[in-house]
Amino acid sequence: MLKKVIILGAGCAGLTAGIYTARANLAPLILAGNKPGGQLTLTTLVENFPGFVDGIMGPDLILAMQKQCERFGGTILNEDVESVDFTQKNFRVTTRQETFESQSIIIATGSGSIWLGLESEQRLIGRGVSNCATCDGYFFTNKEVAIIGGGDSAMEEALFLTKFANKVTVIHRRDQLRASKIMQNRAFNNPKIVFKLDSCVEEILGSDCVTGLKIKNIKTLEIQEIPVNGVFITIGHKPHTEIFKDQIDLDPKGYIIVSNQTRTNIPGVFVAGDVADHTYRQAITAAGMGCKAAMDVEKYLSSLV
Ligand SMILES: Cc1cc2nc3c(=O)[nH]c(=O)nc-3n(C[C@H](O)[C@H](O)[C@H](O)COP(=O)(O)OP(=O)(O)OC[C@H]3O[C@@H](n4cnc5c(N)ncnc54)[C@H](O)[C@@H]3O)c2cc1C
Repeated sequence: MLKKVIILGAGCAGLTAGIYTARANLAPLILAGNKPGGQLTLTTLVENFPGFVDGIMGPDLILAMQKQCERFGGTILNEDVESVDFTQKNFRVTTRQETFESQSIIIATGSGSIWLGLESEQRLIGRGVSNCATCDGYFFTNKEVAIIGGGDSAMEEALFLTKFANKVTVIHRRDQLRASKIMQNRAFNNPKIVFKLDSCVEEILGSDCVTGLKIKNIKTLEIQEIPVNGVFITIGHKPHTEIFKDQIDLDPKGYIIVSNQTRTNIPGVFVAGDVADHTYRQAITAAGMGCKAAMDVEKYLSSLV
């Protein structure tokens, strides 16, 4: 059956778009992919989503959004989209199980951090391992943290963390930082920031929460353990846009190019959340864009009749 709207992705952006399109009687189909709930399901306490005085656990916030969406008639399927065809009048979306057709699409496939790939890192995400100083910096008030990375984002996160932490150790695998000179100078001049260059993380220490890092100097091969309560991995982000490569305009980093709030270069295909946003990357900004995309879809569909 031809759908009015299909939403690709069920993180904060996709689920908010689902709530709004469902309440507009558009009976949205939401294809959640292999991470139903998206990035917030990886974390523990979310303290900056408005409306929760004492914070809310990431998975609980997502579960509430899913229920809210289904309550108004949204259908969520845990299927991964393998290909899309935006060249047809009715857009086609294919999962391993079937092909769906729809008059409009909202892409909300999010992005993922590039992680170090250590077992200890994956086990301790949300328990001291983070990829977002804005989200989690506050938890490390008067504690010691490390930043992994040497680019502008890493310096920005390090400087931000000095508002809370007593000491911030920047760990970078080369002998020079990649960050712009101005950001480097700001970081070098901050007395709370120390540097361990030519170094990489062998293991994040701790069973229930982060207690330290085992790092190796890649020139001397010396292994050292340093005590930290938190570690922020800032070695990059990757938008989930592989399946859209030949279908839609992407920027050089692979993010979907947006014009006029939520529009892509294909009329009828809209976008929301981190898949189009390499700047803010917050639950609330993703949800806000999901709301906008849903309202833009409504307008687009009424223009078709
Ligand atoms: C550890 C951690 C802690 C965080 N803490 C906070 C915090 O405290 N506060 C805050 O505001 N933000 C926080 N964030 C950031 C926040 O989670 C993201 O900004 C937000 O989740 C982005 O929402 P999104 O819907 O755009 O994308 P995502 O949450 O990335 O969701 C993307 C969705 O798309 C789906 N998808 C991907 N590819 C496909 C495909 N091919 N087919 C179908 N579906 C697909 C995925 O399965 C997923 O459901 C945190 C992030 C992390 C990783």
